[in-house]
Amino acid sequence: MLVDSHAHLNFQAYKDDLSEVIGRCRQANMRVINIGAAYDTSLKAVNLALAEPSFYSAIGLHPTHVYDEEFKTEHYQDLIASSRGRVVAMGESGFDYFHIPELLEKGVKSIAEIKAKQEEVFRAHIKLARENNLALVVHGRNGKDDNTAYQDIYRVLKDENFQKGVIHCYGGNLEEAKAFVELGFYIGFTGIITFDKTGALAEIAQWIPEDKMLIETDAPYLTPEPNRGKRNEPIYVQHVAAKLSQIRNKNIDEIVEITGNNANKLFDLK
Ligand SMILES: [Zn+2]
Repeated sequence: MLVDSHAHLNFQAYKDDLSEVIGRCRQANMRVINIGAAYDTSLKAVNLALAEPSFYSAIGLHPTHVYDEEFKTEHYQDLIASSRGRVVAMGESGFDYFHIPELLEKGVKSIAEIKAKQEEVFRAHIKLARENNLALVVHGRNGKDDNTAYQDIYRVLKDENFQKGVIHCYGGNLEEAKAFVELGFYIGFTGIITFDKTGALAEIAQWIPEDKMLIETDAPYLTPEPNRGKRNEPIYVQHVAAKLSQIRNKNIDEIVEITGNNANKLFDLK
């Protein structure tokens, strides 16, 4: 079964034609997990999941938004309680060092303060995931001259002794990927793998144990080839599956089956 394990149909990018995009997901007989990045988009993700049987939701405050609003644990707990099981994960949360310069420009005092704040919010997500037996959708992004985001994610996950989740849109190196997998985490591949010229992702995709790989779009972003330049949407996740099938020398149907089973298992999709 085709599963897009990370999309944002809850974002403004779909305000004009959401029903058509949903229609194309239905036609493809696929499952989609919509991911929140703040309270309002988390609520939208839950509402989409309540309205559409093959949609699920993750709720959380993205690390780039930790200064836009407070992460209120009770509000997210209430969302889980009222979702009738349609919240399957906490997130996306984690560390984003790429956008630190913008936060400094907005007046946050120091890099250390930003990292500490992101860590505090990340740990609050892990706590809720643990208490509600949910998976964790982890966002990581290194800075231009700071390659420590994935190390910091690993440090926190290890310290929290938390194993159930995915490192989405993976952008770390192979060694770090090995450490995450050893911890029990899944690795999410996006459309970047269809145009990545460095070969780094292909190397990881070749190595990754079959039972730990997930595919995702991160729609509306990161549109895969051959649709690059257009807005992304869940049905394009098939191009990520196609690229993985090429790299791993497998039939695309098998890749779709394997990654679908993995998503169903990790997120307990029903
Ligand atoms: Zn995302």
